[in-house]
Amino acid sequence: MGNNSNFDNISFSENPSVQPGKYHSPTEALKVLFGYDSFRPGQKAVIDSILTGRDAFAVMPTGAGKSVCYQIPAMLLPGITLVISPLISLMQDQVKALNEAGVSAAFINSSLSENAFYETIKKARQGLYKIIYVAPERLVTEGFLELAKSVPISMVTVDEAHCISQWGQDFRPSYMKIVEFVSRLEKRPVISAFTATATETVREDIVCTLGLHNPFILVNGFDRENLFFQVEKPKNKEQYILDYISEHPGDSGIIYCATRKNVDSVYDLLKSRGVSVAKYHAGMGAAERKKMQDDFVFDYTGIVVATNAFGMGIDKSNVRFVIHYNMPQSMENYYQEAGRAGRDGLDAKCILLFSPQDIMINRFLLDHKEMPEMDPADWETVKERDAKRLQSIERYCYTTECLRNYILKYFGENPEKPCEDCGNCLHEFETLDMTEAAKKIINCVYEAKGRYGKGIIIDTVTGAKTARLEEIGAVNYKSYGVLAAIKKNLLKRLMEQMVLEGYLVVGDYQVIKLGDISGLKNPEATVLVKITEEDKLPERSAKTKKISKGMESLTTAGFKLFHKLKELRLEIAREENMPPYIIFSDKTLIDMAAKVPVSQREMLDVSGVGEHKFAKYGERFLGVIEKFKEAYPELSQNGTEE
Ligand code: ADP
Ligand code: ZN
Repeated sequence: MGNNSNFDNISFSENPSVQPGKYHSPTEALKVLFGYDSFRPGQKAVIDSILTGRDAFAVMPTGAGKSVCYQIPAMLLPGITLVISPLISLMQDQVKALNEAGVSAAFINSSLSENAFYETIKKARQGLYKIIYVAPERLVTEGFLELAKSVPISMVTVDEAHCISQWGQDFRPSYMKIVEFVSRLEKRPVISAFTATATETVREDIVCTLGLHNPFILVNGFDRENLFFQVEKPKNKEQYILDYISEHPGDSGIIYCATRKNVDSVYDLLKSRGVSVAKYHAGMGAAERKKMQDDFVFDYTGIVVATNAFGMGIDKSNVRFVIHYNMPQSMENYYQEAGRAGRDGLDAKCILLFSPQDIMINRFLLDHKEMPEMDPADWETVKERDAKRLQSIERYCYTTECLRNYILKYFGENPEKPCEDCGNCLHEFETLDMTEAAKKIINCVYEAKGRYGKGIIIDTVTGAKTARLEEIGAVNYKSYGVLAAIKKNLLKRLMEQMVLEGYLVVGDYQVIKLGDISGLKNPEATVLVKITEEDKLPERSAKTKKISKGMESLTTAGFKLFHKLKELRLEIAREENMPPYIIFSDKTLIDMAAKVPVSQREMLDVSGVGEHKFAKYGERFLGVIEKFKEAYPELSQNGTEE
């Protein structure tokens, strides 16, 4: 699309709309545009840095509010802000949300028809947009460069900045074009970069590759307090999911499976039980995929069953649970996928259903992974890295320590104490001293010369009479039968613990090898195993039954009002063909049901109601509230049960 000679040549300066915005301060813009009273931790510092012209790099967990960090300066800076984003759906969503808030924004990517593309460029030249989202591969095309040189660009924002790092989990070669693009501009704009997942190496890589100048760097804690982490090892995963869904009616959730086949079978199962469900994987046609995705995002279906192809770019805020039907390939993947729960800040659950078979599935998937545009020399390194990552998530599944802390430590934080609010912290464990048994296992692994898996080792020490043990000669080991008195599954737990402590190492094909056993030579050393009584426990602790914080605080009448407000939201969503949460989030509706506003002033006091949204929807919501108050005179203002 190089030829753009037919553009109207309207000079930029004649146009008022990209002049300095009408807001006096970031706080004012936050209130007017987004309806929020105060900044969240870190947001203000990033915004201030950008406004003084200093590059910024922020690592903030999903849902922490990254968009505000560049959208507000974009509104306060004089020219245009370009936001580079990897995914079409992400851009469309953001632009929709911005337009809703009254900000003129547009996107430029391959989903635009040629006509729409020229139309957008034309309007951009006329200065009609403050924020333009653009796909990285568009940046250095002639048409776009010409535009970029003819309008004042105040800031370039790189969203999902980890895509520029070869060490990130989803490197995109097209992100390299950003650097070239910036260097071709006459005047270097401020650059801001954002990501939710970045380990130390990736962070350094981002700053260096993007060429950030003395950037202000913010690394916000990775902790997401509203997420409840849990690992389950159910005998029947399907039954677990059915039970979960029936115990949480109406909750929106994502069920991730490792393979398309699993997606299909879980989807069919749920469908056959009358659950409102969609599915999504790369084997489906584009149109069907889009429909399934929209159905979920627009709340036509409550649940989506999907492979990891689903989710990038979905920022549906009211996802109440993310269940992993299989263990994912890394902690990075897990935290990103699980992190799609609870973006609205209300309580949400992240449950990983683990079975040892998941390890096999993942090894297979990694062995068959496609690595486009990868230097063959890097291939081995990447494979090694993948294997390490797989082991880290495996340990997550076995650990009896605080799950939240395990995650935080993985991402480089040093949490001080257990969170007291995760599957493991709330679980009652019995601790056994199994030091002596551990030493016997070590002897057996030594005799086996690191050639066999956990099963053979356990069979050997318990003295099983199998043909396989005869065949490999294990029946003649000194350690054959030395732990015959101990139950097999206890020994399994013991070996998992020994892997966690580094005494044993899991090699290729799951063979068990000796790790560093020097620590065990110390007579004081112990190997403690926490055992669960999973099978004896009929129900999980009360905590897992807890519903979203916000909703709990409503009175019965407030709760009914919340549902009325949701109905209206859905009605408007259908009229405007928008996802409901873009109109107002659940959190906003809960706040509305608690505050029971009866005037514009009171309505603007509700968290998430900005002026533009009030103008669009305020009266209709006030109408519902008024009508509701007639039917429920006992509903008091600020009627929460605190
Ligand atoms: P991220 O991109 O970091 O995942 P978003 O920018 O999508 O997160 O923000 C997550 C949610 O938090 C959105 O619904 C957003 O409107 C809301 N949010 C952002 N900043 C604030 C704030 N200061 N106060 C209240 N809500 C906020
Ligand atoms: Zn915990």
